[in-house]
Parts: sequence; structure tokens; C-alpha cells
Amino acid sequence: MRAMRLHRVGSPLVPDDMPVPVPQPGELLIEVTACGVCRTDLHIVDGDLPAHRLPLVPGHEIVGIVAAAAEGFALGTRVGVPWLGGTCGECSYCRAGQENLCDRPQFTGYDRDGGYAEFCVARAANCIRLPPGGDDAHLAPLLCAGLIGFRSYRRAGAPRRLGLIGFGAAAHIITQVARADGVSVYAFTRPGDASGQAFARGLGAIWAGGTNERPPEELDAIIIFAPAGELVPRALQLVRKGGRVVCAGIHMSDIPAFAYADLWGEREIASVANLTTADATGFFARLKSMHVETTVTTYRLDAANQALADLRAGSINGAAVLVPRLP
Ligand SMILES: [Zn+2]
Ligand SMILES: [Zn+2]
Repeated sequence: MRAMRLHRVGSPLVPDDMPVPVPQPGELLIEVTACGVCRTDLHIVDGDLPAHRLPLVPGHEIVGIVAAAAEGFALGTRVGVPWLGGTCGECSYCRAGQENLCDRPQFTGYDRDGGYAEFCVARAANCIRLPPGGDDAHLAPLLCAGLIGFRSYRRAGAPRRLGLIGFGAAAHIITQVARADGVSVYAFTRPGDASGQAFARGLGAIWAGGTNERPPEELDAIIIFAPAGELVPRALQLVRKGGRVVCAGIHMSDIPAFAYADLWGEREIASVANLTTADATGFFARLKSMHVETTVTTYRLDAANQALADLRAGSINGAAVLVPRLP
């Protein structure tokens, strides 16, 4: 099978011809039909996150079909494979239903080979049965941008005015969920990103501007999807007393020192790590009662490096998705 693999951190992915992986007990063999390109993939390729194994097939927003019946999954079942690819089931967090904090986790496309390939294997227990309808490329971003975005949205409390900093794949999904809940969304992009701001307004944001701008109202909560630590004190200055700033990314540059007055007034800073099975169930159940339209740019598998470069440059509205069978 064809796969795009990372051999050396900081180098482009290499198109490799590999044997189709063999599923172990508890695992499924999946033919990948679409795989989203997440910012975390960039952090892995660029070395912002330490390498866990090399060579590595990145990719953790996988949509595919079960290629061999196993583990109660029939041949041809459409499944999603998310970032959390395995947990120990024994540590105190797993036992408390907080498997997102597992002490011995395995992450898809990081500890395990992921979806930048024609096939992958995944632990059946971590696979998500996807609802019917929707094409695979448009579903793929839901598997991380959607799920982590949804966990972050829940972590934000129940805001009436929600700020989203970094208007990429996750924000464009969560804007739609929040709007359906009657929440007012304030979108922050890189200063001067008129295209990103127009994109946000088109999805229902009532205000869009640069991170250097201040919306007319104080916000109840802000989710930061951008990996820039200096945005944390900035966000604290934009939320009301008792407001919360949620850091949704797996990696962020250092947060600079800031005045205690910015935190005072029971403002809070929280982080979001990974996802639980309950997040996946809750998110896809929520999507039954509303329609989320993902905006995607599709790439052939062998164009994975281009997709990563476009994501790095911030030139994609919505999400980049690799489609192995794209003609
Ligand atoms: Zn991701
Ligand atoms: Zn565990």
C-alpha cells in the first residue's frame, strides 16, 4: 500500500510502499477513504512534540471502511478513528471515565501508524461507528477538529458570548454548533486576515476581527485554538469576571508573564487534553439534531506535504483532507 511517512523530524514526508498492516487481536483493518490534516500533525512533523516512533504514518482524523470483519464490526462498516487510539483501561483516570488523561495512552498517527495511507489498523474499542450520510472527506475533520472542539466547547461552560481565537478547522465546526445553541460567536483571526474573518461571518459569527482587536462586549468564555501562548493573557483581558479561557491545543508556545489583575475576578484558564468515548458519543448524538457543514480542501495522498505547508501558512479556510482515491 501507499503511505506518506515521517522518517526524520523537520523533513518532508516520504511516499513509501509498505505491506498492508496486519490487525492484532482487538484491532480492525481499515481501508482509509479520507484523513484530515490536523495542526497536531504539523507539531509532530516539525518536532514541537517529541517523536515517539519513526518512521511514522501521521494522521488521526481517519474515515474508512472495515476491510475485514472483526470485533463485532461487519465488513464495509464505515468507522472513524480519532486521536485517542488506545488506553490502558487500568489507571486511576481510565477507571474514573477520564480516559483522555490515561497514564499510558496510545495516540493515532503518533504512537501508532495513522491515516496518511491506503490502509491502517486501529483498536476496535477506540473506533467510532459513523452515522450514515455525508461524504467521507467532509466527515474526516469531525474526528479531531470536531471532537476536540466539542470537548473544548463543553469545557467553556455554557457561555452566551463565546470567543474563538484561531479560526481554523475546529472553530469553523464549533461556530455552527454554538450558533445552533443560540450562542453568540466572536471570531478572532490573525490580524488582517480579511478572508478568514469573512469566512467566520459567513458561518454565523456575529463579530470577527484580528487578535489585536477588541469586540464591543465582554465575553463569557474564549477557546484558544491557535498555538500562541501570548494569546492567553490577551484572552483574559477580553473575558468578563468569572469568565473562562480554554486552551484547546496540544502544543502552545510559552505563556508570557502577565499582571495578576488580568486573572483577578475569578477568571479561569483551563486546558483540554484528548477526548473520551463519551465526547465522541455526545458529539455525534448532537449532530443528529443539527447539520454541520464542514468546509474542506481535498488533496491526493501524495500531496500530503503540500497540505501540511498550506496549513502551516494558514491559507486554508476550514480543513485540509487527504483522499487516497482522489483521481
Ligand atoms: Zn488533531
Ligand atoms: Zn489508563
